[in-house]
Amino acid sequence: MTYKDKIQILANLIKGSDSTFALTGAGISTESGIPDFRSPGTGLWEKTDPMKAASVSTLLFDPAGFYKINLKWWAGLSSAQPNAAHYALARLEKEGLLEGVITQNIDGLHRKAGSEKVWEVHGNLRTCRCLNCSESYPFEFLVNQFDSGINPPRCEVCEAILRPDVVLFEDPLGDDFYHAERAVSKCHLLIVVGSSLQVYPVASLPEWVKQVVIINNEPTPWDINAEIVINEKAGKVFTDTLSALNIDI
Ligand code: NAD
Repeated sequence: MTYKDKIQILANLIKGSDSTFALTGAGISTESGIPDFRSPGTGLWEKTDPMKAASVSTLLFDPAGFYKINLKWWAGLSSAQPNAAHYALARLEKEGLLEGVITQNIDGLHRKAGSEKVWEVHGNLRTCRCLNCSESYPFEFLVNQFDSGINPPRCEVCEAILRPDVVLFEDPLGDDFYHAERAVSKCHLLIVVGSSLQVYPVASLPEWVKQVVIINNEPTPWDINAEIVINEKAGKVFTDTLSALNIDI
């Protein structure tokens, strides 16, 4: 089957589905200049062990080290801009062809692109909170303290350590994951974009859905069950799919 055939099938699946969600991973944001975890050569796993660096134990036992390792790449995420794939998903939502986006990403790019229904199952970098009294602050509050030499950043109210509102390794998942699970259990079509589908429990979401499409540079464990698998860059796939649906970006 040619690439063009696959795009036409994807467009037909979207048109024929009465309930479609997208599930996105780090791969949708690589074209915005943010490295993913597992791409060979460029993935973050090659340089550091995120399971250790971005974990609750490191935050509790070495908070200054935690911020030294993580803050630089988190600050990079905050300044990134959406790419064609993020904009296309926002456009599909506006056209009534997509119910929402479930993302593992913490970069906030779906909202920046205009998507309104977004479940950020691994949290976000817009806010942070106190580990002791739970007082909430904008994420910049934490960054400004770090930049002025206060490490670890502390709560203004009780002086305990602050933590970002991302889901760290060893954290339980938040409400967004359970909302996403409920939404997916009723949906017809799930378009998985840029995820290696190796991080559980998010990787189990396709099990709930009738039809799954995979858009990913590399094979995933779910390929064998998918309606179609498109091993191409997400930006190109969505530009071509919108064009097959006669939708301008
Ligand atoms: P992953 O790194 O495990 O997998 C990403 C997949 O995307 C890879 O299989 C890769 O081949 C593919 N890919 C890369 N660029 C692509 C492109 N342009 N088009 C299509 N496919 C592309 O990512 P994951 O499954 O999301 O799991 C990693 C965890 O890392 C997630 O929990 C996520 O929270 C976190 N993470 C987030 C960010 C971010 O917020 N942007 C970045 C890195 C890691």
